[in-house]
Amino acid sequence: MNLKVNMNLFTPLIRQISRKIFTKRHLGTCGSLLSYRPGPLSQFTDEELLMKESVGKLAKEEIAPLVRKMENEGKIDEELVRKLFENGLMGIEIPEKYGGSGCNFMTTILTVEEVAKVDGAVAALVDIHNTLVNSLIAKVATEEQKAKYLPRLAQDYVGSFCLTEPASGSDAFSLKTEARKDGSDYVINGTKMWISNSDIAQLFLVFANANPSAGYRGITTFFVERNAPGLTVAKPEDKLGIKASGTCMVHLDNVKVPESNILGEFGHGYKYAAGFLNEGRIGIGAQMIGIAQGCLDATVPYTLERKQFGKDIFSFQSMQHQIAQVVTELECARLLVYNAARLVDARKDVIKEAAMAKLIASETALRVTAKCIDFMGGVGFTTDFPQEKYFRDSKIGTIYEGTSNMQLSTIAKCIRKEYS
Ligand SMILES: Cc1cc2nc3c(=O)[nH]c(=O)nc-3n(C[C@H](O)[C@H](O)[C@H](O)COP(=O)(O)OP(=O)(O)OC[C@H]3O[C@@H](n4cnc5c(N)ncnc54)[C@H](O)[C@@H]3O)c2cc1C
Repeated sequence: MNLKVNMNLFTPLIRQISRKIFTKRHLGTCGSLLSYRPGPLSQFTDEELLMKESVGKLAKEEIAPLVRKMENEGKIDEELVRKLFENGLMGIEIPEKYGGSGCNFMTTILTVEEVAKVDGAVAALVDIHNTLVNSLIAKVATEEQKAKYLPRLAQDYVGSFCLTEPASGSDAFSLKTEARKDGSDYVINGTKMWISNSDIAQLFLVFANANPSAGYRGITTFFVERNAPGLTVAKPEDKLGIKASGTCMVHLDNVKVPESNILGEFGHGYKYAAGFLNEGRIGIGAQMIGIAQGCLDATVPYTLERKQFGKDIFSFQSMQHQIAQVVTELECARLLVYNAARLVDARKDVIKEAAMAKLIASETALRVTAKCIDFMGGVGFTTDFPQEKYFRDSKIGTIYEGTSNMQLSTIAKCIRKEYS
């Protein structure tokens, strides 16, 4: 495995790894199915731990000082994006032969969680790039397409996943963007909405219907590069939270791409979207538990210091119980997320588990961050303290990659199947 960490920054962590008792005995791209032995969900392999600790350090040292500036500017700092690439955060599961780190899915999840502890917006960038764009290409693209795009996605190309449209959100496969055959090319027309990373992306995975008479079975995925004539990206939406994550409309006006730009198989776009959004949802779960943990880490120390009625406010039993309650709820959410991630690495079906993990992690993050504001009192309601941002950032979790209602529908479908 080739962990592309900046050695100056991370050498002390790498030295610590030698004393870790865990060896490569877990599942994943780095291990083998035969060597897998179940272990506690919150214990990690050496590689997972190295990445988790390295990313935690990077987040504190390189991301934290920029959070408010990026929030105010509504944009992720360019130099920071370069550092994310340089330190291997943008090619976590991309195989080493294409310039990635060749890690497992659990490592991606831990990375997203660590980044989200510091900034939910940067976590969205890292998550969508890795769990939706890289992952889909690595698993279904042709060898030629992998050789062309994966090294760039590990090195300097930000990717975005263009499924949603103004009239098709939860009902994603009723999308109207069309790809018309024109000789050996396809001409794409339509508008995509709410596309994360699109302000800075170089590569767009566009879902378009190339055979509308076949209904959703005509949906096909195309590679479209930023410089393609006819592709325009509107100005970023002004949002409640994850403000630095660029969310824009993407217009495709007679965008011509060769047939070789079809990702995977013609007409399989709906399968790819449905399948890879399962992994994506676990990534959102990781973003949510990271946001909730970051908020708690900024709050509990305050409750130990802040004095009222002559003692620290943590001393009041009603405060202790509420803190204990949210910490326990967060642990439940984390275990659902980690379990779903381990199932992905074990190549198991995760439809229900991914939906449960996202549902609970996002609802929990909202509750935890709201409670943290209460624990802080008045100062928690101001922008001088980070709790209000964590709270706003957590709200997106119940909406994107399928709303909470849609997760419940998915879980219910699985339950019906199990009992029928
Ligand atoms: C910040 C942000 C980033 C995003 N990033 C991306 C991205 O990178 N790529 C991308 O393709 N999309 C992206 N999205 C789109 C996102 O996935 C959709 O917004 C989401 O799926 C909901 O669709 P909608 O907004 O059209 O809401 P609607 O589908 O209109 O839903 C509105 C309400 O109706 C409910 N509802 C709808 N249908 C049902 C039903 N059958 N049963 C019960 N309730 C129902 C929903 O739960 C919701 O409460 C992003 C969105 C946001 C806000």
